[in-house]
Amino acid sequence: MKIRTDFVTNSSSSSFVCEICNHVESGWDMCIKEARMIECDNGHILCWDHIFSIGKKDILIAKIKDKINRSENKIKSKDFKRKYDFNEKHYKEILEEDKKNLRILTGIMTLPENFSSEEDFIEELLDMYDVFYCFPEKLCPICNFDHVNKDVLSLYLKSLYPDKEEGDFKREIKEKYGTYLNLTREVEGD
Ligand SMILES: [Zn+2]
Ligand SMILES: [Zn+2]
Repeated sequence: MKIRTDFVTNSSSSSFVCEICNHVESGWDMCIKEARMIECDNGHILCWDHIFSIGKKDILIAKIKDKINRSENKIKSKDFKRKYDFNEKHYKEILEEDKKNLRILTGIMTLPENFSSEEDFIEELLDMYDVFYCFPEKLCPICNFDHVNKDVLSLYLKSLYPDKEEGDFKREIKEKYGTYLNLTREVEGD
């Protein structure tokens, strides 16, 4: 979750809350990268610690493969000519660039000369492919249910009881258990 408070000045205070550990980072004009967090394709905000353990290189490979797939499907689609005719060449050049970067990352091609190390190249690509703002959903622990948060549990409850609204649950819980203590006793059995 990102909270932004705008003031009369151009500066604004931003807060980022990790949806796994609830860690908060805030500061003036802070961007998500400065907060050492990422936002996934579906808007989940997470600390780097929860995701960079996968390995930045693997994250990039997944991200670029995904982009290549989408581009190729777009080029194959019948309305591509109509929609992208004006910059078809440019579009295909970008696709070739993506494929080249993927070959470098997977070791098929050597590192470009202007990079002294693979780490530098990876850092550059993380920004270039917008990994901090559009982290691939298939690697997001919340999107793939490695971490199940309260939002997911409430969606699941909704899928089990599609006809019930939150208010119905509130009434039911109140009628059935009366107090929080009675519910915990029932669930935890003491
Ligand atoms: Zn966290
Ligand atoms: Zn996600």
